[in-house]
Amino acid sequence: MPIKPENKHRYPKRKHWLQIRAEILERANHCCEFCGVKDRTVRNHALIVLSVAHLDQQPENNDPQNLKALCQKCHINHDRPFQKLHRRITFFIRARSFNHDLFGFESCNHLI
Ligand SMILES: [Zn+2]
Repeated sequence: MPIKPENKHRYPKRKHWLQIRAEILERANHCCEFCGVKDRTVRNHALIVLSVAHLDQQPENNDPQNLKALCQKCHINHDRPFQKLHRRITFFIRARSFNHDLFGFESCNHLI
């Protein structure tokens, strides 16, 4: 998933990240640490390229224990519950703001 511009400052500088990434891929023997697929493998006419995932979703936490080499499928599956939660939080914040603007008071506090 692309990094949003407003979150870019949370990630290490590119040169440092490339070094971290290389170390994690080396540790994983260039295989997905969840399903075992090899980096740069073609599967179902798609090229599998490993990426490095932050398990706790905190890009500031570059402790090797928090990083895993994952294929696209495993990375998306790992991130899905966090993204779902983030979408729900965003929805309630927007709904709360909308109701506040519409009625002049916070009418959906009971939803949060
Ligand atoms: Zn995988």
